[in-house]
Amino acid sequence: MARLSDPVTILKGVGPTKAKQFAALNIFTLEDLICHFPRGYEDRTRLVTIEKLEVDRPACFKAMVMNTPRTAHIRKGLDVTKVQVADHTGRLNLTFFNQKFTTDRLQYGKEYIFYGAVSGDFIGYNMATPVFEELNAPPVTTRRVLPIYPLTAGLSNVAVVKAVEQALAICDVPAEILPQSVRQKYGILPAQRAYYAIHAPSSMEEAELAKRRLIFEEFFVFSAGLSLMRAARAGKTTPAYKHTDLKEFYQALPFSLTGAQSRAIGEIVADLRRGTPMNRLVQGDVGSGKTMVAVAAAYLTVKNSKQAALMAPTEILAEQHYKSLSKLLTPLGIRVCLLTGGLTPKQKKDARQLIADGQTDFVIGTHALVTDSTQFRDLGLVVADEQHRFGVAQRSALSAKGEAPHLLVMSATPIPRTLALLMYGDLEVCVLDELPPGRQQIDTFLVGESYRARINAFIRKQVDMGHQCYVVCPAVGENGDLDLKAATVWAETLQQTVFPDLQVALLHGQMKSTEKEQVMAAFARGEADVLVATTVIEVGVDVPNATLMVIEDADRFGLSQLHQLRGRVGRGDSKSYCILTTHNKNPETVARLKALCKTTDGFRIAQEDLKLRGPGDFFGSRQSGLPVFRVANLSCDLQTLQQAQQASKEWIEAEGTADTPEGAALRARIGQLFLRAQGTMN
Ligand code: ADP
Ligand code: MG
Repeated sequence: MARLSDPVTILKGVGPTKAKQFAALNIFTLEDLICHFPRGYEDRTRLVTIEKLEVDRPACFKAMVMNTPRTAHIRKGLDVTKVQVADHTGRLNLTFFNQKFTTDRLQYGKEYIFYGAVSGDFIGYNMATPVFEELNAPPVTTRRVLPIYPLTAGLSNVAVVKAVEQALAICDVPAEILPQSVRQKYGILPAQRAYYAIHAPSSMEEAELAKRRLIFEEFFVFSAGLSLMRAARAGKTTPAYKHTDLKEFYQALPFSLTGAQSRAIGEIVADLRRGTPMNRLVQGDVGSGKTMVAVAAAYLTVKNSKQAALMAPTEILAEQHYKSLSKLLTPLGIRVCLLTGGLTPKQKKDARQLIADGQTDFVIGTHALVTDSTQFRDLGLVVADEQHRFGVAQRSALSAKGEAPHLLVMSATPIPRTLALLMYGDLEVCVLDELPPGRQQIDTFLVGESYRARINAFIRKQVDMGHQCYVVCPAVGENGDLDLKAATVWAETLQQTVFPDLQVALLHGQMKSTEKEQVMAAFARGEADVLVATTVIEVGVDVPNATLMVIEDADRFGLSQLHQLRGRVGRGDSKSYCILTTHNKNPETVARLKALCKTTDGFRIAQEDLKLRGPGDFFGSRQSGLPVFRVANLSCDLQTLQQAQQASKEWIEAEGTADTPEGAALRARIGQLFLRAQGTMN
């Protein structure tokens, strides 16, 4: 017997070349191979006689070879082999292209099983390039439901089929982790059967059942993991906050809070007084004022003699928060410090020292804050801003830091229900469903290249009125895709030829963080009229004087991402606009972008986006903060997800955290899943 952890090279027929091909699919061990699931199936179980073959409908049939195959060399690169076969119902001419090597195996007078479809193009029936197997050979490509695998160059489907078959024959499949009670109640196949059936189902129905089992398992493990995380945190205690007076803080604010902000803060204060760690998500559309809600919590944390940390998804955003929040909080006696990857090693070291010594109260940084070696003196609160970039793995990493700090997660993107259940299954949610007063409706237009002159004139008009504009491009520099606007090139063009008399600035992710900071700061001070940028400005950047956003090649972005980008304008008291440009004439793409022009409802946009693009692309970045699901598809397996969630809840309630052998296997798998998720984040 082999082990799941053995390398694929122990299989017959898998040498260095095949191993490399498998490696390209991230398959290194037998387990990887067994967990390389088909993307679909071809039902080749139907066996008929030659007479019953139907045009264009493939089937298997048993037939005898009636002559020796003859190969004609037609021209360079084209050999045609012809052979005639027959059964008791009729004869059939077979034609093969460039398969001399294969057809040489067909022997006159011998019977084979063929699989193919007759074409009606010829006088009499003819079949092109059927596959065939010897009668008593084990069925690999005929007489079965054939799994169709994701492949890579040089690796054939049959090679994968055979390798998987071998692997299944020489080692045990991954252990059962779903409790029997759960399997029974929800009609779930046992692991053993599911792993065999997913690769070699006896029918299409069985393939479906196997797939459902594996999807169910993924969701079950994930939601059980979330529940355990929640239970673990709920089991911890933390001193209840005694000082919960926010009067001084409110007086320092330049505005009064919206009703939604006050309600959210009220819920948070209740959490903080409870004596158990808070796990809360604040969800609110772009510009709804989430930051102040978080800062209120940070203020109270410091007033209760603990440290608070705010993690932002980008350095730019961290720096911006640092600037505005230190201005607000320093007069209140709160010591704010910045910790990002962009600092010099010395600066970082000093910042860490202050944090460890408790000489700073409120640390603002990127998510390096949790993943690196930063030690806090007494961490009471962690705020994760724009949390979908952080994900579940970071949350679990966090819980390990400090003595069960309170956790506040802020999300701008209203997440569709499936994703919300997955990502926030362990959190209490409150919603900011109200924008601060005086917010501008943003008029959004979709235009083609023929509008270029008008776009430029519009930019100039905004600038003449004393406003500023963003121009967002999908790429940083010149790239293979000539149709794609590159920020560096476009900024140059705008500055040199279109607006020589204006100030055009450039901002993209490949710039050094000090440079980025300077550019952003200058733009915020009004020193540039037009900022050409990539999506680094996507989250949080706040320049109220900017009233126009032009998004080039808008079809290259996700809808939610476009919505986020658009949220950068309309932050002051002047009418604001968003212009989407595209070359793309695909009706679906146009419809998608038009939807964005019609609605500013972030939730509807998110729902639409998930449907169209799937969760991988949902946030317009590869990292949704979710673990990689191998079988499950978040946009269509909602029902299975709900069942799995229900099941995991029931199971955890019934078994609690009891130390059963069944539970141990499950917990081990949960650990793996969350670790893997973390791996993909960094
Ligand atoms: P988001 O929810 O997108 O993070 P922010 O917290 O960045 O929103 O707030 C957006 C802008 O609105 C900021 O300039 C902030 O100072 C301002 N703001 C927040 N709350 C209010 C309020 N109650 N009244 C007026 N302006 C507010
Ligand atoms: Mg924000």
